[in-house]
This record gives sequence, C-alpha cells and structure tokens, in this order.
Amino acid sequence: MFSQNPVFIPGPTNIPEELRRAISNPSIDHRSDTFVEMFRPALEGVKRILKTTSGEAFIFPSTGTGAWEATITNLLSPGDTILAARHGMFSHRWIDLCQRHGMNVEIIKEEWGKGAPVDAFAAAFAADKAHAIKAVLVTHNETATGVRSDVAAVRKALDASNHPALLFVDGVSSIASMDFRMDEWGVDAAVTGSQKGFMLPSGLAILGISQKAMQITAEAKSYRCFFDFKDMQKTNATGGFPYTPPANLIRGLDTAIKMLEGEGLENVFARHHRIAEGVRRAVAAWNMKLCAKDPSLYSETVSAILTPEGFNATDIVTHAAKKYNVAFGVGLGDVAGKVFRIGHLGSLTDVMALSGIAAAEMTMADLGLDIRLGSGVAAAQDYYRGHSAMAQKDAA
Ligand SMILES: *Cc1c(COP(=O)(O)O)cnc(C)c1O
Repeated sequence: MFSQNPVFIPGPTNIPEELRRAISNPSIDHRSDTFVEMFRPALEGVKRILKTTSGEAFIFPSTGTGAWEATITNLLSPGDTILAARHGMFSHRWIDLCQRHGMNVEIIKEEWGKGAPVDAFAAAFAADKAHAIKAVLVTHNETATGVRSDVAAVRKALDASNHPALLFVDGVSSIASMDFRMDEWGVDAAVTGSQKGFMLPSGLAILGISQKAMQITAEAKSYRCFFDFKDMQKTNATGGFPYTPPANLIRGLDTAIKMLEGEGLENVFARHHRIAEGVRRAVAAWNMKLCAKDPSLYSETVSAILTPEGFNATDIVTHAAKKYNVAFGVGLGDVAGKVFRIGHLGSLTDVMALSGIAAAEMTMADLGLDIRLGSGVAAAQDYYRGHSAMAQKDAA
C-alpha cells in the first residue's frame, strides 16, 4: 500500500518532488549532446560533493555494493592483503566481498557500536614493515549501528608510519549528508550510491578515485569488465559510457547536486545534525539508549536504538509497517532483534522527523513498552524550537 508517509529507513531515502520530476523523462540518445550536457556537470558535481579537485569521479549503473566491487577489482589483485575492522553489517559485507575476490583480509573484530579502531590500525601499519597491507577499508558511517568513524585519524595513522596502503572509504550513508573530505583526508577510493544522501532511487554507484589509486590500476590483476575504470575514463572523456548509461538517473543526480549546493553543503550537514539531535533527544526521553557507545560516534544519518532485554526490536518495525504504514529499519547481523533504526537522511525536515518520532511512540506503546506518548516528540520539539533552520536563516 502506498502512502504519503515519509520513510524512516536509512536508504532508500525520501525522494523530493523535484527529483521525481527530474528522473521522469522521455528517452534521449545517449550519444547526443543532450546527454553530454547533463552528464558532464553531474560528474563535476560529484567531485565537489566529495571535496576532491585532484581525484577522478566515476558513475556506474549499480549500487553501493557495486561501487565496492569496482574499487576492489580495479585496484587490487587476488591474494593481496587488506586491513579492515568488522563492527557492523556493512563493514562485514565489504570484508566478505573482498574475501570472495580472493583477497586476504586481516580482520580486526571491534564491538558493534564502536567505530573503526584507529589505535589497532596504527599498530598494524607500524608492524607491517614489509608493506604487505595494500589497502585499509573504513566504513565512514556504519548504517547498521549508527556509528561514525574518524577517517582523518586513519589517514594520520597511515602517514605516521609512512605506510603506502590505499585508504578505501565506504561513504554510502554519509556522503552528501555528513562532512566528507576526500582530498583533505587522503582518501584513495570513496564510494556511495544514489539512494542515500543524493535522495534518488537506487541505481547509481558513485565513486571518487585518487590519482595515486588510478596509477595502480595497471598492476591490479583482478578480473573486471563492466566496472573497468580505464574503459569508463576513456569513454567519459568524450562524454559517453562504455555501454548504455542510466540517463534518467544521471539527470536526477545533476539535479540533486544542484539542490544540495543550492541549500549549501554546510547547511545540509547542519540540517542532518539538527534532525538527528532531535531524534536523539527523543530516544533519551524514552529512557532508551543508542547502540553507538559514545556521543563522538553518533551518526547524523541513522540512529540504532537498543530495546529492552527480552523484547524483539524487529516487532517495532513489523508493527509500524502494518498498523501505521511507516517504515523503520530493522536490526542487522549481530544486533538483529536488539535494535530498531530510525533513518534520518536525505530529504527530511524537522516536521517530518517529528512524525516519525510520533509513529515510533505509538508503535512502542502498542507493543507494551513503557513509553509515555508525546515524551519523545516533546523532547524533539524543544530542540527543534531552539534550533530552527528558518530562525537561524533570519538571524544570519
Ligand atoms: C546502504 C549501504 C551499503 C550498500 O549499498 P547498496 O546500494 O545497497 O548496495 C553499503 N554501505 C553502507 C554503509 C550503506 O549504508
């Protein structure tokens, strides 16, 4: 059943009307100037969103997972050693993908609810005198646990031991919603998809690749064809694709970037912070805790909320869908049944967030949890009243 209710899952996100219109277009000839005119600015726009001037941007018809696969197969060979932390479902899946490509992943197990363990990474780089580690994987925002990791600190650790490993960052649920600085953080591969911060349907894998990484594609022995960076780079140079491009989504991406830049990236980040903070105030008012262990780790795009011992958190998601036609995120992997997630990224306002908080309260009250109706809503209202975007704009 369709409704006008916003979704509160951490992707796909709500699609603004303007983007729905932008992707609803008749077919065009993808070898025409019309395509080039929308593709070029989209590619340049991706670089600005990633904050890279020296890196290459790539767009493939795929999803975030495809962007991971493209990164791995273009830049590494089977047998290569990769360093990664497993601290959530998405870091786990990326590790799995590397293993299936025959790579040797040195896994650091970290508690779910914590960030990438920078100290353990630093120790691994320092111990690796022979430079066996070819790449380190960092999940910037663990969507399963609502935890952000410190990418800049991983770069610092690499530099401190003069380690040449490439820094690969999964920014699928952070890029275009949270501060991300590809060049400044020395990121060699930044990956995302269209259905998160860019507010579009799924269908695009979006990547930023450093020149250092581009130079080693020739050495990387993994098989690749559809995702070949060099083929893509060559055809992109003349405005085309090695195959039929997803023209409507690319038009949408171009429009999404204009919307994000129209709002101002800093304002987009501030809006995500404000909305997230309201959700966190609500969680505190419910006497509940986040899966994220420390405020410094709090994600601005998704909150994973721990439910009481003995309660199946997935019931919240099922009940909210059935009774109120509202979508929340289930717990994944190690935290399945222990958390439910409120996604708060992409096209969202304070007012929309309040509706999600209210729906969560009705659901939890229905299921017998000790929730006073309105308590979380009131806590979020208090915060939003004091931090209104409109008021801030007027003051500026
Ligand atoms: C959504 C997500 C992915 C997976 O992306 P798909 O587009 O579903 O392939 C990977 N990593 C993170 C952190 C995500 O949030």
